[in-house]
Amino acid sequence: MAAEELMRIIVAIKLVVSRHYGISFGSTSSTSIVIDPQIPVAHKLQKWRVTNQDNIKEALLVIDRMIKMQQSSIQAGTKFHTVADVARAENANKFFLKLNIQIIETGQRFFYIACDNCHASYDAILNWSIDCQRCHETTVAKPRERVMVNIFDNTGSLDATAFGEEAVKIINMNATLAMEMNNAVNTPSVERMNKTLKDKKFLVRLKKTVKVYQENNQTQYTILKKRLAFTDEDSFVESSTPQKKLKQVISGVEDEADPDQGSH
Ligand SMILES: [Zn+2]
Repeated sequence: MAAEELMRIIVAIKLVVSRHYGISFGSTSSTSIVIDPQIPVAHKLQKWRVTNQDNIKEALLVIDRMIKMQQSSIQAGTKFHTVADVARAENANKFFLKLNIQIIETGQRFFYIACDNCHASYDAILNWSIDCQRCHETTVAKPRERVMVNIFDNTGSLDATAFGEEAVKIINMNATLAMEMNNAVNTPSVERMNKTLKDKKFLVRLKKTVKVYQENNQTQYTILKKRLAFTDEDSFVESSTPQKKLKQVISGVEDEADPDQGSH
């Protein structure tokens, strides 16, 4: 694929910027995005893109490999369970599974208002002060991502919940954006989100808890932190030093970045 396809030049106006996971951008009804804008700065960027085609392609490959390596935090030799194993297990425990995920279509909002410190749920207004009864801190009410999903493999299916970063990987938006979209005319389409998820396999660390509620056992499944990853392959081929390679590529790009520079 040519660099102009891999790296489109766009202009975006009125984005929602949030600092949730590094920096993330969201769009609202007043956001406008122009692809390949015909303006002087874009032409300059285009020229740079042509000059550095090979470096850009190489950098994108390295970034792709780094993301996959980061996400494949499950080591070789990990024993995987099936959904049926987990359902059968009598004790509360943690399990590794390879499975598919679909968002449950119940008109969920994808966020809840939580204590900013311990994420306990509160029926409070955003940014209100909270004397948290769970963590005993005085904090503020902040939105936190939450998604209820159906997880399945060829042995069975279960309903589970993902929070925070793990939810972001499924819904592709953070809580700030989920709140914005909840107020917007066009709420997120679960059908469309599920279409994207359909072909993806997830590596999941799942926690099973059994709570006694009004003399009945209630089983809950939670998708745990840091272990959720997309996977196209069964194992990722580890490159020797992708970080180092990326640095080389980037410094190569910087050296050639502006052909006008140094010509005076
Ligand atoms: Zn708290």
